[in-house]
Amino acid sequence: MPESGKNPKRKLVVLSGAGISAESGLKTFRDSGGLWEGHRVEEVATPEAWAMNPKLVLKFYNERRRQLFEVDPNAGHLALVELENQFDVTIITQNVDNLHERAGSSDVLHLHGELDFARSSKDPELVYELKGKDIELGDQCELGSQLRPHIVWFGESVPAITRAAEIAESADILIVVGTSLAVYPAASLAFLGTGEMARYVVNLEVPDEEMFDDFEIIEGKASEVLPELVERLLSS
Ligand code: NAD
Repeated sequence: MPESGKNPKRKLVVLSGAGISAESGLKTFRDSGGLWEGHRVEEVATPEAWAMNPKLVLKFYNERRRQLFEVDPNAGHLALVELENQFDVTIITQNVDNLHERAGSSDVLHLHGELDFARSSKDPELVYELKGKDIELGDQCELGSQLRPHIVWFGESVPAITRAAEIAESADILIVVGTSLAVYPAASLAFLGTGEMARYVVNLEVPDEEMFDDFEIIEGKASEVLPELVERLLSS
């Protein structure tokens, strides 16, 4: 409950995707022709891949995790932190990197899991921070089952989606940045809430403008246009 006599901060929600991390050096799907660092997603990011070839899946995510420690947040991630001076900000990200947290954002919800965590393949509640360590075949949780990447693979349910939908619906302002909105149910979060909500979409290019009728469309690199948008919102 806000204290009487004080204006509560307005709720600002950011829905981010791989594009915001592209300029930090982490490739998106789109700019690599539907491949993720040279792999088809079916080979490395599905429960079937894990069942067929766990060694390859672990190698793929171990490489992604190592890469994470070679890159830094960019001006796009950093600009979003500034919003917390004036707004009640939640970042809902499809990204599995930790660049929002490392930039300083304090409320980040990962829809699709996190690279630097492992979890039990028996009990999904048993989650362990890796702090950069690889997961090897034979590494076990406390129940004695193999550790797997703490990642929501294609074809798996998205446990955080209900909470994310409640947060997205409550937004006064929504910024959708660096996502193709091709992955469901995450994409549906961009279109929740009422007509009162101020909506912005930030992307290198927005091919289907009709989809974003209720949005202000801002085309450009996230690291260049997000700081401008943030400055505008802070002075509004
Ligand atoms: P996507 O690859 O489908 O789409 C990326 C979008 O970002 C595109 O629309 C592209 O036009 C835009 N873009 C590229 N560079 C940009 C820039 N510099 N500034 C602004 N926009 C830019 O990514 P998605 O929609 O996030 O879906 C892919 C899925 O893959 C996600 O679920 C995510 O978990 C996973 N993924 C994550 C990472 C990561 O964590 N960094 C990287 C690749 C894939």
